[in-house]
Amino acid sequence: MFCRNCGKELIGTPEICLGCGAKPVTGSSFCQACGSPTDHLAEICIKCGARLQKAEAVGRAWMPTVAGILSIIAGAIGLFGGIVMATIGGIVGAAEGIFWFGTIGAPLIAIGIVAILGGVFALRKRIWGLALAGAICALPCSWILSIPAIVFLALSKQEFK
Ligand SMILES: [Zn+2]
Ligand SMILES: [Zn+2]
Repeated sequence: MFCRNCGKELIGTPEICLGCGAKPVTGSSFCQACGSPTDHLAEICIKCGARLQKAEAVGRAWMPTVAGILSIIAGAIGLFGGIVMATIGGIVGAAEGIFWFGTIGAPLIAIGIVAILGGVFALRKRIWGLALAGAICALPCSWILSIPAIVFLALSKQEFK
């Protein structure tokens, strides 16, 4: 590859450029595929047509992991809340003779499970849509945890396989 910062040709994809000392992908001045000068805002190299490597891709690698953890915590809160609601609802329902009362916790248990599953996919950086669905399902469980998870996933779609 070529250093995106100084244009020096590098062997393999080293962490640090031998020419300028920066991370080779953090620059935006040269094409990583052919070494031609590139416009700072360009997405594709006008010389060789390669998709130019984005510096943000490196800075956002942590986002799916954090989003996954947030989704799993929110999902666990929802799951726990749902079980508590179902238990209390079941006891009260049985005492009052309203037997469907125990099922009020069921939707919360269901979205809690989806949020946890979505969180696992986010941690593994697999199937962005499912990870996002999990974070959205976490909303009723804990919006304080869910909203940052949705934002991080929206910003880090390119990290997913
Ligand atoms: Zn360099
Ligand atoms: Zn190029």
